[in-house]
Amino acid sequence: GFSPAPRIATIGVSEILRITAKAGALKRAGRPMIVLGAGEPDFDTPEPIKNAAIRAIGAGATKYTALDGSPELKEAVRRKFSRENGLVFTQDEVTCGAGAKQILYNAFMATLAEGDEVVIPTPYWTSYSDIVTIAGGRPVLLPCGAEAGFRLQPAQLEAAITPRTRWLLLNSPSNPSGAGYRAEDLAALAAVIRRHPQVWVMSDDMYEHIVYDGFRFATFAAVAPDLTERTLTVNGVSKAYAMTGWRIGYGGGPSALIKAMAVVQSQATSCPCSVSQAAAIAALDGPQDVVAERRMAFQRRRDLVVQGLNAVPGLDCPVPDGAFYTFASCAGLIGTRTPEGRVIGSDRDVADYLLDADVAVVPGSCFGLEPFFRISYATSDEELRVALARIAQACSALV
Ligand code: PLP
Repeated sequence: GFSPAPRIATIGVSEILRITAKAGALKRAGRPMIVLGAGEPDFDTPEPIKNAAIRAIGAGATKYTALDGSPELKEAVRRKFSRENGLVFTQDEVTCGAGAKQILYNAFMATLAEGDEVVIPTPYWTSYSDIVTIAGGRPVLLPCGAEAGFRLQPAQLEAAITPRTRWLLLNSPSNPSGAGYRAEDLAALAAVIRRHPQVWVMSDDMYEHIVYDGFRFATFAAVAPDLTERTLTVNGVSKAYAMTGWRIGYGGGPSALIKAMAVVQSQATSCPCSVSQAAAIAALDGPQDVVAERRMAFQRRRDLVVQGLNAVPGLDCPVPDGAFYTFASCAGLIGTRTPEGRVIGSDRDVADYLLDADVAVVPGSCFGLEPFFRISYATSDEELRVALARIAQACSALV
C-alpha cells in the first residue's frame, strides 16, 4: 500500500479544506450556503491587466523566460519596491515565482537545515508551519492573543530565540487576524533581531495595499535598513490586483539568498508563467487607482462585519487594521448547548454549528489560536448581511 514520505507524514489535511469541502457538498445538495472562507478578492482582475496578457500572447511571449523572472518583470518589481517601500534592490536581489507561496517555499527550502527553528507569531497563515515542516525545519509558534492586538511582543521574541533560530516570519497586515504592525512595532522587534546575528526576517507583505482608517503600512527592511542583509521582503500581485489565479509573487533580499532560492525553483517549476509575468508588469507599472477604490469597498465590508459580530452576545470582534478577514473571539459561546442539546466545546464546534445555519467560517484552531473564527469578507455586502443575520439568529438559539 501507499505510505507518504516522512517529510509530509505529519502534515494533516487542512481543516480549512475539510470545512470548505463540507460546505461545498451542502451547497450542491441545494442548501443556500454562504461560504466566508475564501482567501481571495471577489473582484475581477482589472481590464488593463487582462489586456496586457492578451497582447503578450499575440506577441509570442509564450516561451520559457529567465528562471526566476524576466528582466522586464524584475525591473517592474524593483520600481515597485523603490516607489512604494523605499527599498532599493539590484536585479540580482530580486526573484519572481509562481505566487508568494513559492517565494516562501523557495526561501525555506534554500535555508533550513534539519531542526532549524522558524519563529511564527500565532495566529498564522496555515501554510507557514507546513512549508517549514516540509523543509525540515521546526515551527516555533508564539501565541499572540487579542489582548496583545495579535502582535508579537519584543520580550516574547527575545525569549523564543535559540542558537537554532533561523528566521522570524512576520505578516502584516495578518491573515487571519488583520492586525498590522506600525513602524514603531517593527523597530522594537528589530532591536531584538539586531542582538541575534543568526536570525533573519521574512516579511510577508501580501496585504500591504489593503489597510484601513489611515493605517500606515510599514515593512521591516525599510524600518531597519541596517538589517537588509538579513531580510527577505515577500509580496505578490494576488491580493492587491485580484490576480490569485495568475500565480505571480516576488521577493527582494540579499543576492546570495536569492541565488539559492533560484536553485530550488529551477528544479520545481522553472520560470513563472510567461503570460502572467506580462500581466504582473502591467499591474505593478499601471494606474493604481483601482487598488484604492477596492480598499474602500473592503473597508465598508469590514465595518459591516465587525459591527454585526459585536452585536451578537458571546462574540467579540477586534477591529482589523487590514487584509480582508475578521478574527472574532467566540469564548462567550463555549459551554453553551445547541437546541438539539449538543455542547459547544470548541471553535470547531462553533464552525460546525454555523455550518448547520448555512454559513461557513474557519475556526481559529486552524490558525493556531482558540477559540476564535475567521470570516473572509471578500464577498458582496448583500451576502455578508444575510450571513450576519444567520450568525446572530443561530447564536441566539444557543442556551
Ligand atoms: N501570504 C499570505 C499571508 C497569504 O494569505 C497568501 C494567500 O492566501 C499568500 C501569502 C500567498 O499568495 P500567492 O501565493 O497567491 O501569492
